[in-house]
Amino acid sequence: MKQIKHIIFDADDTLWENNIYYLKAANDFYNLAEKQGVNRSQVEKAFDELEIKVVKELGYGSFNFIFILKELFKQFELSNKLNHKELNFIIDEFNSHKLKKPKLFEHVADLMRQLSDKYELYILTKGDQQEQESKIIKSGLVQFVVKYFILDEKDDAAYAKLLSAENWQSNETCMVGNSPKSDINPALRNNMYAIHIPYKNTWKVDIEPIINKNGKYKEINSFKYLKDIFLLD
Ligand SMILES: [Mg+2]
Repeated sequence: MKQIKHIIFDADDTLWENNIYYLKAANDFYNLAEKQGVNRSQVEKAFDELEIKVVKELGYGSFNFIFILKELFKQFELSNKLNHKELNFIIDEFNSHKLKKPKLFEHVADLMRQLSDKYELYILTKGDQQEQESKIIKSGLVQFVVKYFILDEKDDAAYAKLLSAENWQSNETCMVGNSPKSDINPALRNNMYAIHIPYKNTWKVDIEPIINKNGKYKEINSFKYLKDIFLLD
C-alpha cells in the first residue's frame, strides 16, 4: 500500500463510539413496552421495519431515531403518565451523549496525528449535517484532517463523485471503516483500497457481506494496526 496518498476515515463506530447509545435507548424502550405486556420481539420487529422506512424517507440521525421511538409508543398504545415520564427519561439520556465529546476508540488520536505527517487524511460520514459536524468538531480530530465530508448517503455514486471532485486516483486512496455497506463495498467497487475494522456494535442496517476479500481489501481488528500498514517501512 505504498502508493496510498489519501486515507479516508469513516467517523461513527470507526473513530468513536456511536451505535451503543442507540442500542441502549432501543433496549430501554423494549423493556418499557414489555413491562406493559407487549411482546418484546413484536416491538423489535416493528422497530426494524419502521427504521428502514424512516431512513429511506427522512435520512439518518438521532432526530429520526427519536421519531421512531415516539411513533412506536403511540402504535403500541403505551401512553399513560408513568410511561410518558419513562419515555422522556430514555430520550433525555440518549440525547445527553450528543452534548459530550465523542468517546474516541483507543489509539485513534495518537495514530491520526502520526498518520497526518505522512498522508492526507479525511473524514467521510453520513447523516444529519449539524449533528455529524458537531461530533467531528468536538472530537478534536479536525486538526489532523485536510477536510471532512458529510453526505446524505455513502453509496457507490457518492464515492465516485468524491474521487472525481477531489481528483483522487482510486489506487492512491484508501477507505477505513466499520461498515461493509457504507465504507467497504462502495470503496472496493470504486477500485479504492478498503480497510475494514469490524465492530461488534455496528448498526445492523450497515452490515452485509464484503464483496471481494482479495486484492485491495484488508481486515484488522483494532485501529492500532493501521500503524503496521501505513507507518512501518
Ligand atoms: Mg461507521
